[in-house]
Amino acid sequence: MNSNNSAQSSHAASLAFDVLMTMEVAVLRRVTPKVYNFCGVAPYFYTQLFPQQEDGSHCPNPWQYSAMLEFFMEEAEDFFENNSEPGVSLPSGIWVEEIDSGEEIPLAATARILKDDKVLLIQAVREEYAERVRILRKARVEILERRKITTALNDFKKRALYDALTKLYNRSAFMDILQNQIANLRTYAPNLALLMIDIDDFKRINDDYGHLTGDSVLTQIGDVLRNSLRKNDAAVRYGGEEFVVIAPNTSLPQSLQVAEKLRRFVAGRDFGIDRQVTISIGCTIYRPGEDSREFIARSDAALYDAKHSGKNAVCQRNPWMSTESA
Ligand code: GH3
Ligand code: MG
Ligand code: MG
Repeated sequence: MNSNNSAQSSHAASLAFDVLMTMEVAVLRRVTPKVYNFCGVAPYFYTQLFPQQEDGSHCPNPWQYSAMLEFFMEEAEDFFENNSEPGVSLPSGIWVEEIDSGEEIPLAATARILKDDKVLLIQAVREEYAERVRILRKARVEILERRKITTALNDFKKRALYDALTKLYNRSAFMDILQNQIANLRTYAPNLALLMIDIDDFKRINDDYGHLTGDSVLTQIGDVLRNSLRKNDAAVRYGGEEFVVIAPNTSLPQSLQVAEKLRRFVAGRDFGIDRQVTISIGCTIYRPGEDSREFIARSDAALYDAKHSGKNAVCQRNPWMSTESA
């Protein structure tokens, strides 16, 4: 290279840096892992964001001042260590840095492999991009807010649907589910059964062991119902120590079998007290056209029959027969 050529090439290099500066690009050349040299003159944004060295040279470690750059540098180092193909690059996303005056500068960074060099380019990008970042940030906050509201609403709905002690449906959910099942009945399910369940002599359990033990018995009955019913059956805590099961697609004889199974489970279970706990159950099926209140009243009557037959028993009422049968 003659002196003329070398003067030309150094002129070309300084022209290139001038261009990069007007395009608001800062160039950092990688020397060894995590060691970079600042090249050329720093663009305005760079001098505003990253403090100069004591010797007046430009800050070669801007990632020490920017969490986003620090984050990107980890990826960039990995990229440089694992790539050597010239021309490849790794872009960062766009982020925004704030200068002392409160003004925000949108930035982007690129880790790029040139022929002989690995460089990090940090660039101030257009204001539209910053606007986009702000919109995304706002959208993110809104999404998080909405998620919080949805979670709160779901909790609220859950509380409105479920009984706190047994985690079964509560009475108001029961009425909705029952009305729904009745409405659906005409279209697809020919049979809908209702089981009315009452714990026998529960008052004595409370009196003899205290309310907390009484509550524990209620919780355990809830577990038995939850674990032994089909997926489409709905188990409900109807009131104090009364429960209901809504069983779709269940005929009267089938409902009797379900009830008998539940009665046996409870009678055979160890409730942690030195006394057998038993339940009585009344079953019936829905008679098309009847009011839900009539339906409930008939299952109640069947339960009454079971209590009168000596408790720990199951009785049914057939909607098409005026007399009951056990
Ligand atoms: P029967 O066999 O005729 O059903 O008699 P019983 O003692 O079970 O019925 P009774 O209606 O006389 O008593 C029900 C008891 O249930 C009275 C009430 O204090 C108790 N109870 C209602 N809700 C709860 C509750 O949430 N926790 C507890 N521990 N007891 C409750
Ligand atoms: Mg009762
Ligand atoms: Mg009772």
